[in-house]
Amino acid sequence: MNDCYILDGHHTPVRVPMRRWVAWWQDMAHRRVAATQVTPQVHVSTIFLGLDHRHWGAHGPPILFETMVFGGPLDQEQERYGTWEEAAAGHTAMVARVRVALGAWPPAPPGSLCEACLDAPAVVLAPAPWGGARGVCAACAPDAEEPA
Ligand SMILES: [Zn+2]
Repeated sequence: MNDCYILDGHHTPVRVPMRRWVAWWQDMAHRRVAATQVTPQVHVSTIFLGLDHRHWGAHGPPILFETMVFGGPLDQEQERYGTWEEAAAGHTAMVARVRVALGAWPPAPPGSLCEACLDAPAVVLAPAPWGGARGVCAACAPDAEEPA
């Protein structure tokens, strides 16, 4: 039997008895980390799983969050994480990967630096706020806007 977890008010997983978990679980709003409709056909969803998905007696912190792609060239692609922060960053990175795979955003030139944070390699050429495009890292790629 997997261990059951809920999230406290600070997005921290807390292990609870099954009965309490079931009541908490009913409300999807508790569990959604992020959801992005990339195109009308392609959706990226990141949720709190609530059950430890670390398998086969592997040691380490529980795996409780998952990003999943629905539709498009990366359909059913998934990533799993141990913390809300990792899941939120992973969601943004997955949306950027989907946009590259769709050809919506071209990949950034190899070796170029993120023009937003100047602190990480650029992965995609995303629409710039002032028009045109700029190379950004996955964390800086805008999340909610439609590709230009
Ligand atoms: Zn950046």
